[in-house]
Amino acid sequence: MTKTLLIKNARVVVTMDDERREIAGGGVYIRDNVIMQVGPTADLPQDADEVIDAANHVVMPGLINTHHHMYQSLTRVIPAAQNGELFNWLTNLYPIWANLTADMVQVSTLTAMSELILSGCTTSSDHLYIYPNDCRLDDSIEAARKIGMRFHAARGSMSVGQSKGGLPPDRVVEEEGAILKDTQRLIETYHDAGRYAMERIVVAPCSPFSVSRDLMKEAASMARSYGVSLHTHLAENVNDIAYSREKFNMTPAEYAEDCGWVGHDVWHAHCVQLDDDGIYMFSRTGTGIAHCPCSNMRLASGIAPIRKMLDQGVPVGLGVDGCASNDSGHMLGEVRQAMLLQRVGYGPDAMTARQALEVATLGGAKVLNRDDIGALKPGMAADIVMFKLDQIGFAGALHDPVAALVFCTPSNVSYSIINGKVVVRDGVLATVDLPVVIERHNALARELALATSA
Ligand SMILES: [Zn+2]
Repeated sequence: MTKTLLIKNARVVVTMDDERREIAGGGVYIRDNVIMQVGPTADLPQDADEVIDAANHVVMPGLINTHHHMYQSLTRVIPAAQNGELFNWLTNLYPIWANLTADMVQVSTLTAMSELILSGCTTSSDHLYIYPNDCRLDDSIEAARKIGMRFHAARGSMSVGQSKGGLPPDRVVEEEGAILKDTQRLIETYHDAGRYAMERIVVAPCSPFSVSRDLMKEAASMARSYGVSLHTHLAENVNDIAYSREKFNMTPAEYAEDCGWVGHDVWHAHCVQLDDDGIYMFSRTGTGIAHCPCSNMRLASGIAPIRKMLDQGVPVGLGVDGCASNDSGHMLGEVRQAMLLQRVGYGPDAMTARQALEVATLGGAKVLNRDDIGALKPGMAADIVMFKLDQIGFAGALHDPVAALVFCTPSNVSYSIINGKVVVRDGVLATVDLPVVIERHNALARELALATSA
């Protein structure tokens, strides 16, 4: 049985359509999980099974998060990892993550997804690259189904431990044969290549400094044989560049190209230190980037040259990155930091509020290789968020409510509709009991810290 939903009377509807229309007094008409009409409220059907009055709200496409490690919600603000750069930060955290369990993966994924959804995100990727004890990617997918988030689950992996010159301790790495076998199982079990897919699998060895060249190459050929995307970390900071030069005698971009890791089906997290040749090569091949400004600032990795990448046509999306290097998972907050950080690096006109929102919607869709999300127009997936404007943080900013979303204090949504389903209603998550999730999550975070100190 079909169900219709009408959102009407918005202060403004931000469409991100081809003309980038912003429609004052607009609305959206949805049938099941698909947008049927977008326009002035008077032009839309007046009746629907459910009607949401969006007076005094900005209505926009759901934001898209292209890089995360949701299990890290359990290890936010660990004292020993508060003040280091990437490699120091990782070596302090690996021993804690070695005690992760399947239950912890599921509860931390629910926690991270709750935070993302409340902050305006409707589609997320998650890069789970550590599988100690009984951990499986299936537990992340289970959490996404429960909360109702559109999910690109990245099967990460690490195979080169310290004894082979890698960064992670040997006890948290896996055998390469087992990695590839499990990745194949996940693709065959869960990957949905269809339009409006809620679940896609991504092949995602963790980084050039934690897997072999063979695994990079075999991962690429497996991904291409199934038509799924590839994702990893690349050129994150100067130590990452030094490792690549010393170990492979190549820049990270050259190494990625050598391993077959370029193309419209590939996106790399960070690329803070991508050089001009690398940017040109990414532009030429349509290789995407997940820009994670908070994490880059937190770990003092530098300022990614996003303005230059956008000017050259490189697909760029936003990522909050893992909760141990942000340590916020607020998607609208990340949009704000993206705008501000480009200005620190490249001047006050380096990124406008609307450009930052475009990176977080259309940009993210392109990076994830999708054309069914990121804009409000007929035929697109019904992924829609609403921000209420009569809040203290927006007081005095309503000359431009769209820019206010990015310039002012990052707000939570009052409504979120994902795949046509109302997941947040009146500011409250409808699909999970959030206080129960938080309590369970805090107990597991305590358990994880104690297991490590024991
Ligand atoms: Zn990351």
